[in-house]
Amino acid sequence: MTDVYDRAKQDIFRKRGEIEEIRNRRFRKIVRYVYENSPLYRRKFKESGIDIDKIKSIEDISRLPFTTKQELRESYPLKAVCVPKDRVVRVQMSGGTTGQPVIIPYTRHDVEQWKEMMMRAFFLAEVTERDIIQITPAFGLWNGGFGFHFAADAINAFVIPIGPGNTRNQIRFMVDFGTTVLAGTASYPLRIAEVADEMGIDVAELNVEKLILGAEPWSEEMRRRIERTFDARAYDIPGLTEMGGVGTVGFECPERDGLHIWEDNYVAEVIDPETGEVLDEGEEGEVVYTALNREGMPLIRYRSGEVSTIISRDGCECGIEHTKIKRIRGRTDDMIIYKGVKFYPTDVENILAEHGVVNYKIFAINGKLEIVFEGDERIKSAIAKDLAEFVGIHPAIKTVPIGQLERFEGKAKRLIRG
Ligand SMILES: [Zn+2]
Repeated sequence: MTDVYDRAKQDIFRKRGEIEEIRNRRFRKIVRYVYENSPLYRRKFKESGIDIDKIKSIEDISRLPFTTKQELRESYPLKAVCVPKDRVVRVQMSGGTTGQPVIIPYTRHDVEQWKEMMMRAFFLAEVTERDIIQITPAFGLWNGGFGFHFAADAINAFVIPIGPGNTRNQIRFMVDFGTTVLAGTASYPLRIAEVADEMGIDVAELNVEKLILGAEPWSEEMRRRIERTFDARAYDIPGLTEMGGVGTVGFECPERDGLHIWEDNYVAEVIDPETGEVLDEGEEGEVVYTALNREGMPLIRYRSGEVSTIISRDGCECGIEHTKIKRIRGRTDDMIIYKGVKFYPTDVENILAEHGVVNYKIFAINGKLEIVFEGDERIKSAIAKDLAEFVGIHPAIKTVPIGQLERFEGKAKRLIRG
C-alpha cells in the first residue's frame, strides 16, 4: 500500500515543468495513436485535413476536431476502439437510459490507470487501509461502484460493495460494520440521514468520517449541510465515464474551491458551447477533455457537457501544480434561461440549502418557472428575495409538506422541463 500511495503523492505534486513535459509527450503520442488505430479518428482527422506530423505540442490541440457523444453512440458497439477485441477486459456504459448506449471499453492498462487516478483521490482524502468503505454507487454497467472498488481493494481497505438502494439496510451496515467512508451520489447522504432519523439513528453519531460524492453537480451549501448532518467531511469527486469513470480526470483541491485536473493524464479546455471557441482562464463554458493516457478508446477533445471555468494555471495554495477548474456548476443540458437570465439548478440549490431546504424541484415548463420545495411557508419570501438578488430570477415558489417530493438513491432528477 505504501507503494501505491507514494506513487500517487509523487504524481500529484509534480512540478509544472515536469507536468508540461509529460503531457506534451503523451499528447503527440496519443494523437498519432488514435489516428493509426481508431477508424473514428482516422476519418475525422482526414475530414478536417489534419496532418498529424504537424501536431507537435498541446498548443496545436485547438486544430483538432471535437468528439461528441452522438459520435460515440454511432460508434456502438466497438467501432471507435483502438485495440483488437481480445485486449478489451471490460466495458462500462455512459449516458441516458434510452436510445443507443455509449460503451466505453477498457484494456488492462485502462483499468490500472483508473485505479491510479482514484488512488490520487484517496491520497488527498486520506482514505487508507484502516477505512471501512461502503460503496453505494451501482456495480454494473455504470462506472461508479467499480471505480471506488478497484482503488479500495488495492489499498486493502475493508470494502462493503453494497451498491445503491435499500436505505435501511445501508444504515444497518453503517452501524454494524462501523463504516468510515461513504461513497455515493451527492443527493444520497441526506436521504440516508432522513431514513436514519425515522429509525431513531442520528447519522452524526455514526463512524462515518468522510463522504466521497459525485455523479451529479451539487452546491457548496449542500456540502455544508451534509457535513453538519454527518459530522464528517464531504469531498467532491468528478465522474465522467467517457474519460474512464469516477475519479479519473481529477480531484478536489485541499483548499476545497475547485478540482485539480490530472494534467499528466488529461487535457481540459473550456469552450463556448455555441461557437466552439476556446475560452480564457476565468471564463465559464463547456469543459472539453482529451485523454492522454488511455488505450482502449482514448477520446480527443470530448465535449463533456459539464459547465465550469479554469481558475488558474499557476500554482495553487495547496502546492498542487496541476490546473484547477471550478467545481462543476451544471451540465449544458440543464441550463435554464428564464426571462433572459441563464442559470443552473445548483444556483437554486445553493439558496435553498442555505435556508435549510434539501428536497426541491424546478419546473421550467412553457416559459414558466416554478420552484417547489418541502418546508415552511414562512421562508418563502426570504428565498424569493435571495433568488432575486443572487440568481437574478423571480420564479413562482410553492411549498409542500415534508415527505411530499420524490426521494433519490442515485442521481437526483430535480429539473422538470416541458
Ligand atoms: Zn489546490
